[in-house]
Amino acid sequence: MSLVASPDAMYRLLIQSVVDYAIYLLTPEGVVANWNPGAQRAKGYSAEEVVGQHYSMFYTDAERLAGLPALNLERARVTGRFEEQGWRQRKDGSHFWTSVVIEAIVDEASGTLLGFCKVTRDMTEQRRYEQELLRAKELAEQYSQEMAGLSQFLDSVIANIPASVIVQDARSEKILLANQQAERLFGGHGMSMIGLLPAQCPAPAIADYLGQQLSRGARSGRAFAAETRVDTAVGSRTLRSRALLCNNGKGHSDYVLFVAEDATEQLAAHAQIHHMAHHDALTGLPNRTLFSDRLTQALLRGEEQGKLTAALCLDLDNFKNINDTLGHAFGDKLLRALGKRLRAELREHDTLARLGGDEFAVVLTGLDNREAACNTARRLIAAISPAFHIEGHQFSVGVSIGVALSPDDHLHAEPLLCYADMALYEAKRNGRNRFECFHVGLDVAARQRRLVETDLRTALHLSQLQMHYQPVVDHHRGCVTGYEALLRWQHPQRGMIMPMDFIPIAEETGLIHDIGIRALNLACQEAASWDSEQTVAVNLSPVQFRDANLTHIVALALADSGLPPQRLELEITESVLLGNSEENVQTLRALKALGVSISLDDFGTGYSSLGYLRSFPFDRIKIDKSFVHDMCESREAMSIIRAITELSNSLMIKTTAEGVESAEQMRRLAAEGCSHVQGYLYGRPVPASERLIRLSGEVL
Ligand code: C2E
Ligand code: MG
Ligand code: MG
Repeated sequence: MSLVASPDAMYRLLIQSVVDYAIYLLTPEGVVANWNPGAQRAKGYSAEEVVGQHYSMFYTDAERLAGLPALNLERARVTGRFEEQGWRQRKDGSHFWTSVVIEAIVDEASGTLLGFCKVTRDMTEQRRYEQELLRAKELAEQYSQEMAGLSQFLDSVIANIPASVIVQDARSEKILLANQQAERLFGGHGMSMIGLLPAQCPAPAIADYLGQQLSRGARSGRAFAAETRVDTAVGSRTLRSRALLCNNGKGHSDYVLFVAEDATEQLAAHAQIHHMAHHDALTGLPNRTLFSDRLTQALLRGEEQGKLTAALCLDLDNFKNINDTLGHAFGDKLLRALGKRLRAELREHDTLARLGGDEFAVVLTGLDNREAACNTARRLIAAISPAFHIEGHQFSVGVSIGVALSPDDHLHAEPLLCYADMALYEAKRNGRNRFECFHVGLDVAARQRRLVETDLRTALHLSQLQMHYQPVVDHHRGCVTGYEALLRWQHPQRGMIMPMDFIPIAEETGLIHDIGIRALNLACQEAASWDSEQTVAVNLSPVQFRDANLTHIVALALADSGLPPQRLELEITESVLLGNSEENVQTLRALKALGVSISLDDFGTGYSSLGYLRSFPFDRIKIDKSFVHDMCESREAMSIIRAITELSNSLMIKTTAEGVESAEQMRRLAAEGCSHVQGYLYGRPVPASERLIRLSGEVL
């Protein structure tokens, strides 16, 4: 082969060596005239398979049908060049994206079309790359839009969170960001904090605070948290803050982030809630919870210092009546006034608490001796005794106080308070408006009472309660006109228990309501079985008058037993008429309206006032046995008996003298004009069965 080839041969050689482009010639009709290796590589046909074929074979059926091969040649012929990008088909049926150029070859001299040169380049890879690039660009745009949205969102979060946010440049220490809240709290005077060093903040207190928090945040490994009272631009506030270093992801700490929450209101609300949880809303005094805490603390301190601590329980005498009569609003005012008077008597480190209702309690600390506690108790009683003036009313209340001391009585708060309460109970029993100190005997008595209470519930269920009957005698006519029904408790271990040993406990615990109903039913049923017109007298406790159903209960006992109402007498004591008695008088009227008689029992004891006889038309007065007992020796007792009988006779009220044990007493009572007598002289209280035996053998 000669080294110097003709330009035509060189050109052919060049074409043959191009493998990335399919370069071939078409006749003016579009028949493939030659085929280079690039064409073979791109389309899969060998030169033998293609040369001589019409170039439309590379088009799809649809394109052929549309006449595209001819159209494209025509365009190349008219314009000299046809160029497009599009899909082409390989021999194996697969498609590839190509850039196609068809150039018309024209004889320059004659202008005759010699053919076409077709250059096709496989652009599939490039197109895929371009498309990926496009997609990546779209994604990047979308992402940057999202980021812009997110950053806008974060900006508005930072602007709107109810906390102050400051971002400081870790190196220059300049403030890069301060949200509205931060500017309001630390900036002030409309001055921006951006670009300032913490020390350049206008107020020195703020400059100190921010400088300290940010530098601690920058230094500490974790977030530095603090709760600080700060004099801010809007006043003194308690700020709960966190300061921390923020890494930029490359290991460098770029920023110090400081977030502070204004906890002033929250802390105030907590303090308020705490106060409410530990104080009584009415008087503002400590409540039971705080009292217990204070007592416990006082006991610990007292033990350390070798001093005495006293717990005092206070209870107002007769407060319920004032509350019921004058209304709760009035009662509230009284309690407040009382609280003030009591508080004024105590030292600052003593605690006065209201435990509820009309119950108050006191802790006295650092006492030297028992007498000191007693003196305070005396002072408290004296402070209450001057009359209270409220809303034009003037009235007096009394206070009963129970005192217990530590370490003498007990070392711990709860039992000590319990002992003070027992002493209070004792003070009330001993006549109110006084104080009592705890002693072991009270505990024994309280245990005894608790025991009785439990046993008494069982007694009710197991029918251990019985009635005994004692005759009431009309000594003029010499006959038994009726019987007083008296309760007895047949205890399986303790034998017979007398009413004085369990009725007061039943009254305290409310068991008296059930016991009273039982007594009434037993007595009515028993009397209904008697073959006579004799009456039966049943005692009613003042506590039973608190039951609005009392009249109904009596009516039911009569109806169930079939006892005619005129054969039932109800005995009440003066205490029923005490205090707010109007309601009780109404009840008495309703009872009387049933047809039963009402007797005033134990007359002359207690509060004794002949005035009671005017408040209700009693059917009978029972002269208390203490007068009968003393009448032969005491002129006063005799005079009282005389006064009662005279008054009763003039008011046409029957009288029964109780506790008549001797014939002498009997004779004198008859001489005074007493209509009835009752006592051991005529018969002791006995069970119903013995009553009949006694009656048959009785000589009056
Ligand atoms: P009371 O109603 O004044 O009853 C009279 C008390 O004097 C009875 O005592 C009776 O046994 C006693 N007694 C009668 N004659 C004599 C006597 O000649 N000499 C002496 N020294 N005492 C005499 P008892 O049965 O121990 O009852 C005491 C109190 O218990 C009663 O006094 C009454 O207030 C109360 N009680 C008794 N049964 C009931 C009841 O069913 N319900 C209520 N609520 N109280 C009752
Ligand atoms: Mg009685
Ligand atoms: Mg009596």
